[in-house]
Amino acid sequence: MIIGDGMADRPLRELNHQTPLEAAETENLDRLALEGVSGLLDPISPGIAPGSDAANLSIIGYDPYKACTGRGAFEAAGAGIELKPGDVAFRCNFATVNEDFVIVDERAGRIREDALKLADALKEIRLKENSDIEVIFRHSFGFRGVLVLRGDRISPSVASMMPKAGDKTGIFKPLDASVEAKRTSNALNEFFKISHELLRDHPVNKKRRSEGKPPANAVIPWGAGKLPCIKPFQEKYKLKAACIAAVSLIKGIARLAGIKFVDVPGATGYIDTDTFAKADAALRAIKTCDMVILHVEGPDEASHEGNIEGKISIIEKIDSMVGRIIDNIDLDEVSVVLLADHTTSIRHRKHTGDPVPITIASSEVLRDEIQRYNEREACRGGLGRIQGRHVMPLILNLMCRPEVLGG
Ligand code: ZN
Ligand code: ZN
Repeated sequence: MIIGDGMADRPLRELNHQTPLEAAETENLDRLALEGVSGLLDPISPGIAPGSDAANLSIIGYDPYKACTGRGAFEAAGAGIELKPGDVAFRCNFATVNEDFVIVDERAGRIREDALKLADALKEIRLKENSDIEVIFRHSFGFRGVLVLRGDRISPSVASMMPKAGDKTGIFKPLDASVEAKRTSNALNEFFKISHELLRDHPVNKKRRSEGKPPANAVIPWGAGKLPCIKPFQEKYKLKAACIAAVSLIKGIARLAGIKFVDVPGATGYIDTDTFAKADAALRAIKTCDMVILHVEGPDEASHEGNIEGKISIIEKIDSMVGRIIDNIDLDEVSVVLLADHTTSIRHRKHTGDPVPITIASSEVLRDEIQRYNEREACRGGLGRIQGRHVMPLILNLMCRPEVLGG
């Protein structure tokens, strides 16, 4: 299963009313469409814009309305933190803020190695005003980190939105009148203040300023979540699966679902990722697993940046990755499911509720007339219009081990 995160899009005026998938050169994705059956997929249901947590969970067959307990929980699991029931976890961005705590760059210039050194400074943070709440901060990947609050009577019911340039940050408000929400927002506000003081004049940031790079002078927590209850994938489907991904959200979903995670050096979670390294890892994994989930984050990142050229270039890299894969497998033996987890609109720089194209290539599917992998062609495909929850049953059926109803 190959997932291009946010790879689907709407037609863009700049591309002569084509989508990035239509504008890109995608001979290998098109080969899959040619040798498969295509259709449209609503990750959740028509018109619902999912986060990547909800979308990816739905595609691998978990009810997003039950399994989605807040993005932070998956990010924490992906960063290797063993969450306890009662913990509240947050995804964090290293970011650049000005003196008024207005976000200047929500990714601090896509900081990478420097973030590790900054995270070291935050490891020992202890809250003073909220001293009965323990703080665990860990760097996860690139500009991303994870914050876990541990203690009695805390709650994910605090306003923690995905940070965006231009927004004011630093004050996290409770979302309800409970003591728990109040305690949690107090702890977040204190964490934000202490971390800002530690980061502001950190030597790494002094150096970044002198080099003209944006300093990572704030850590912004968002996506509050609690430990979900997820039935292990292997128990649910009797399939041994492996997952290849760069970002900790997907790593965390795999970890919490008991799916083996394969680390790939060179995977960056951005448009410069080493897609061939990922293809080779997938080819190795499929020799010992029933199913490999190969996730590429880059298209979503380019979309949120409004980067049309970047999105096309990562789609073309995914195309050559797919080429490497299909050149080394036999569609008689291995089926390939290609999809996006959701649409990320370049124009609006956010996820939308549009359906995405899906193609299932196998020597055993009834091929349709579709010869290209994109949103427009998929409308006419033989799969029709399906939902995220239908993907795993289709895969299991293709493997000749469908769920059987009745006798
Ligand atoms: Zn996504
Ligand atoms: Zn996104």
